[in-house]
Amino acid sequence: MTNSPPKALKYLAAYPETLQQQAQRLLDSGRLASWLLDKYPQAHGLRTDGALYRHVEALRQEHMRQTPRLDRVLFDSKIHVVRHALGLHTMVSRVQGGRLKAQHEIRIGALFRDAPPPFLSMIVVHELAHLKERDHDRAFYRLCEHLEPDYHRLELDVRLYLTHLEAGGERLWAPAASP
Ligand SMILES: [Zn+2]
Repeated sequence: MTNSPPKALKYLAAYPETLQQQAQRLLDSGRLASWLLDKYPQAHGLRTDGALYRHVEALRQEHMRQTPRLDRVLFDSKIHVVRHALGLHTMVSRVQGGRLKAQHEIRIGALFRDAPPPFLSMIVVHELAHLKERDHDRAFYRLCEHLEPDYHRLELDVRLYLTHLEAGGERLWAPAASP
């Protein structure tokens, strides 16, 4: 067996050792949550799939006109965050009026419904980039950075949040439960 990192740091496994140690210290000292909240005090306000669709489709039209119009964009509570990275982009074929029609859809992990605007931006950019680049290769990340210059920093911060949750921390931007 290899010397694997502690379970809570699995989201950071691809980062340098020194960064993982820093994250571990923040986590151990109980300061990771407040560090995240200081940096990202507010949640975005997109509550519905309809609002999410309009947001994502507007971005696509602005930056990626040559890609096909999206048929659906939704928050999906069934997305397993680790397995599918963070979201899911699919091209499904559906029978419509007796004809098979390709449908382009993007599913965003429901976790991102309660998240600050930059986190939503990171995951949306990631999934939009997949409309053109399938794999997580150099061309893919170049496109992500073109769409969101802070992409890499944001992906790291999203992963720090996932680390916080994995370690048993509470959701930081969840709205107060209604009575
Ligand atoms: Zn991906």
